Amino acid sequence: MKIFDVVIIYKLYLYTIIVKYSSKTEMKLKYISTRGQAPSIGFEEVLLAGLASDGGLYVPESYPEFSKEQIRAMRSLSYADLAAQIMAPFTQGCLDMQDLTEVSHQAYKNFSHTAVAPLKQVNDNLWVMELYHGPTLAFKDYAMQVVGRMFDKVLKRNNKRVTIVGATSGDTGSAAIEACKVCENLNIFILHPYKRISEVQRRQMTTTISPNVFNIALEGTFDDCQSIVKSLFADDVFHARHQLSAVNSINWARIMVQIVYYFRAALALGAPDREVSFAVPTGNFGNIFAGYVAKRMGLPIKQLILGSNENDILPRFLETGVMQKRQVKPSISPSMDIQVSSNFERLLFEVLDRNAQEVSRLMENFKYEENYSVPPEALNKINSLFSGLRCTDRETKDEIEKVYKMSGEILDPHSAIGFAAAEKHARKDIPCIVLATADPAKFPQPVHQATGVVPKLPEELSDLMTRRESFTVLPNKLESIKYFIETSNRKV
Ligand SMILES: *Cc1c(COP(=O)(O)O)cnc(C)c1O
Repeated sequence: MKIFDVVIIYKLYLYTIIVKYSSKTEMKLKYISTRGQAPSIGFEEVLLAGLASDGGLYVPESYPEFSKEQIRAMRSLSYADLAAQIMAPFTQGCLDMQDLTEVSHQAYKNFSHTAVAPLKQVNDNLWVMELYHGPTLAFKDYAMQVVGRMFDKVLKRNNKRVTIVGATSGDTGSAAIEACKVCENLNIFILHPYKRISEVQRRQMTTTISPNVFNIALEGTFDDCQSIVKSLFADDVFHARHQLSAVNSINWARIMVQIVYYFRAALALGAPDREVSFAVPTGNFGNIFAGYVAKRMGLPIKQLILGSNENDILPRFLETGVMQKRQVKPSISPSMDIQVSSNFERLLFEVLDRNAQEVSRLMENFKYEENYSVPPEALNKINSLFSGLRCTDRETKDEIEKVYKMSGEILDPHSAIGFAAAEKHARKDIPCIVLATADPAKFPQPVHQATGVVPKLPEELSDLMTRRESFTVLPNKLESIKYFIETSNRKV
């Protein structure tokens, strides 16, 4: 072989390495922190990590976009296949189309409605998408059922184990437990405030008897539960020894899976050739942020309308540009009794043109002063897309009654707030879809008061009130919780 040939072969060899390497890095979407101080990582790490190490939230380095043609081609897909298509650009390098298709078919096959997320017309240009046909009757199942299976797949493949720890005031805990009970490579510990959640909510968690599920009833409030979970994550030694992980609403994977039903609804009403709007009852800003991402991905969304109860930090912000924390006030829509909408940080990052330093500064301010304000340009950007409405409990019940009389559709208190927000803010010439986030049977009292109808639990849950429960009551002490997790993890 001549020296010349060797050089050619060597050059070809280099070239293939470069092509291979660059196509691989090009293919794999990276995630960055909204506070700019954590390393950028791939989907697998984002899935398992939850929060970034600098306290920020992970967002994709750039949002994948679909062309009109690509979106049009999605019209004929089943819900599960649509989910796989929407998720694929986000999970490259971790889960391929085959993995996603498998996970999503498994996740949605047990939903109680064949359409998975049925869409109903209620008024001229107003629609309701029922997102409560999963196992725990709230919209959180739609993401959690997929995310639990993703955990299982990734952990098994890497021969890893994790311990999921979380606090709940109701719906998140049951959705997480229901999704994780089938996962072999993890244990899940959910803390709820003892005697401070509804019986239906408690039983949805405590009647799931599985060797990897641990329900802790803490002698304290929801805030105490959350504060203990935070302390566990902040304890580096404990964190590392038990490989702690979280599936709360700041986990990017949950946002990603929620994008799917925005596409589903919009496609059914004529997207990408027709604009639509959405109205969403909002607490942590997770659900509605998924709508924002759907828009960034090419879905023609005109308005995103948010509804809140008297914990109205978001509607106040939209009016004033000031995010001002107040005391949490209990309401008949308890899943939105929130004064810190964690996922809003992701929107802030976008409207501040991804200035992580500025986001960090505002978040520090919020932590220490309980408020921050954004510059007028940023507020204008937010107001050009979002609008909001606050409802008192009285107004919420009136809305439930009104919608029932008008259409026969029974809304739960959360969904009724979304509906009221749509009626107030939706442009009349564009179809608006209200996301119904819970089955009315989860909140029977206010629904009964408003309509005279006692909403029935679906068949699969009709024996919920007589099933065997399992939970451990523990004192409001960090050490007791640590000891419990330590000994339980050893047994499994
Ligand atoms: C969690 C929840 C919400 C709020 O969703 P976010 O993503 O926190 O905005 C609204 N309604 C119900 C029934 C919920 O469980």
